[in-house]
Amino acid sequence: MRFVIRGTVQGVGFRPTVYRVAKAMGLRGTVRNDGASVIIDTDGDESFLDRLRAELPALAIIESAECIDYQLPDSVKGFSIIQSGNSGHGVGIPTDTAICDKCLKEMRGTGRRSGYPFTTCTECGARFTLMESNPYDRERTSMKEYPMCPECGSEYADPADRRFHHQTVCCPVCGPSYRLIDSKGNPIPGDPIRTFAKMVDEGRFGIAKSWGGMHICASIDHVQELREWYGREQKPFAIMVRDVETVLRYSDPTESELKEMTSPHRPIVLVRKKDTVPGSVSPGLDTVGMFLPYTGMQYLLFDYLKHDAAVMTSANVPGEPMILDDGDIMELNADMYLLHNQRIVNRADDSVMKLFGDRRYFLRKSRGHIPSYIEIGMKGEAVAVGPQENLTASVAKDGRIHSTQHIGNGESVGVVDYLETATDSLMDMLGSRPLVVAMDLHPGYSNRRYAKALSERFGAELMEVQHHWAHCASLMAESGIERMAALALDGTGHGTDGNAWGGEAMIADYNDFRRLAHLEYIPLIGGEKALHDIRRLKFAVDSVNGSDTPYVTEREADVFSKMSKNSALTSSFGRFLDTLAYSLGVCSLRTYDGEPAMKMEPLLARGRKVEGFETELKNGQVLTSHLFRDIGRYDRYDAAYSAVDCVLERLIESAADAASKEGIKQIGLTGGVSYSIPISTMFASHVKKMGFTPVFHDRVPNGDGGVSVGQAAIALRKIQ
Ligand SMILES: [Zn+2]
Ligand SMILES: [Zn+2]
Repeated sequence: MRFVIRGTVQGVGFRPTVYRVAKAMGLRGTVRNDGASVIIDTDGDESFLDRLRAELPALAIIESAECIDYQLPDSVKGFSIIQSGNSGHGVGIPTDTAICDKCLKEMRGTGRRSGYPFTTCTECGARFTLMESNPYDRERTSMKEYPMCPECGSEYADPADRRFHHQTVCCPVCGPSYRLIDSKGNPIPGDPIRTFAKMVDEGRFGIAKSWGGMHICASIDHVQELREWYGREQKPFAIMVRDVETVLRYSDPTESELKEMTSPHRPIVLVRKKDTVPGSVSPGLDTVGMFLPYTGMQYLLFDYLKHDAAVMTSANVPGEPMILDDGDIMELNADMYLLHNQRIVNRADDSVMKLFGDRRYFLRKSRGHIPSYIEIGMKGEAVAVGPQENLTASVAKDGRIHSTQHIGNGESVGVVDYLETATDSLMDMLGSRPLVVAMDLHPGYSNRRYAKALSERFGAELMEVQHHWAHCASLMAESGIERMAALALDGTGHGTDGNAWGGEAMIADYNDFRRLAHLEYIPLIGGEKALHDIRRLKFAVDSVNGSDTPYVTEREADVFSKMSKNSALTSSFGRFLDTLAYSLGVCSLRTYDGEPAMKMEPLLARGRKVEGFETELKNGQVLTSHLFRDIGRYDRYDAAYSAVDCVLERLIESAADAASKEGIKQIGLTGGVSYSIPISTMFASHVKKMGFTPVFHDRVPNGDGGVSVGQAAIALRKIQ
């Protein structure tokens, strides 16, 4: 019999388990990685498969098992794991997984791996971030630079050992190591991790290299100083905490939030914070991003630290990709650097999620959750390069859409290069030869050149996909719905009429979309400038209303009025929230992506519906500017809630009308605005009241990080 197994079966201790089961059953045969699958040839029957399923290692998932008639040659003696074939490229790209309990115990024990931060086994450790190509074997990872010592070699070869065929097996004798240096590059004496911990306790700022990148590390008592040093005014920091007990000391997580936080993927989870969290960690927000240690080094660090929580934020120049190079990182001028010599092949930031009930909203899908894919019922090959902000790319092949790690914002230095490297590498691992390359409709996006180059390289058709259509398609793709009415609410995306869309009710499938309704067009005074100086948005609506504008000088009023006549128009829901945030005194500037919208969440969560906020649909536009006329007269929580609620309700009505005409039962919510829990809640309530089923994201990011998935799905349909 030949078994062809697909699923998460590489780099997770699958082949060693196959070996053990076969041995225990007295079978002859072989097992090998074949890129796309694991192939088992044996003289056993299907009872072998049953037993294998029963004894599967914790992280392995069998998605399909094909049984093919096959006569095992008599020449095969016993059972063995054989060298990986290179015939196929495939899906078995393993993700990085937090150090397991057994390895943790070993690292904290007295044996030969005592205090060794690179202790891992078949069930844990860095994988994708070390991997050069498929299939996953030591010679195609950065561990090839570290030949195994005899002791590690015998663990690797021993079927009874939990490191049997562990591709990255190593120890203090043969593996990589940490070192600690100061800002000049001079070695700091003492145990590197212990000394680093001591310096962090004393209030110094350090860089700690981990899997897939580096973190800036500071104790939780020194966040304000860190903000001044790093030049980061308001944007929230994620904190890493010692253990679950500490999580509960600083926050009030739900059961599902705690489950995600403790999962082997170890994402940063946004949870409701307690007063114990210093205000400077996430100013103006109800939540704090929290995560638990996942590498051996991080566990050791917390073993030594007196503090139970530390800021751990990606070490980069703001907006640019995380720094990987030991030389480049010195430019940050930190007090000390905890570096190691295990080369990082693939960069991966920490994943960030928040939960809406049992739905996972990925703000960033990266380390521990990538590479990942969703199943789609369309064959063919396509590549999609994403939009501009929160970039990811996606590669469609064999009925699956695979996405890259989080890349960054396309306008920043180095980001498009990083997009190219990450996409090329994913395409290479999958053996991709696209027939269509998809990109955003926006003529100014920096990744278009790369899309064009790809289409030339493969002789593939180049297609443009409208931004919000792609958002809808991304939600359809992950929920397996072919045609959907949906609201796509976000910052801005280029519309087919040349305006900046972003508050859209649509009905869509992979062939086409129809715009049903959108928020009132408001001039973006000065274009990009209005995204940061949100006074300009308020000025625009006040001009429509003929209201006073005491917050601008006479000269500014003059200039703004003139500019507004030639400014691009926007229907963005994000800009509507920005205008509300300014009007209600929540913030007067946008210092980071999504700031006003995020700071509106605490208001929306506390407000209730009051009289005086009504709106209507006029010529396809849901009117918004009149809502600001008397907004100062109301309680700010109630004003926030009521203004958002009435606008949402009108958009949902348009979607519901179109849906019921076509007999569609679901109405989806997508786009960056949908990360807001109060807005998701209002949406769910209206949709249900109107007799429809709300659909939310769970695996594909709601925001622009998910756009490439939608683009890829639309590109695939083009091939059919
Ligand atoms: Zn382990
Ligand atoms: Zn060794």
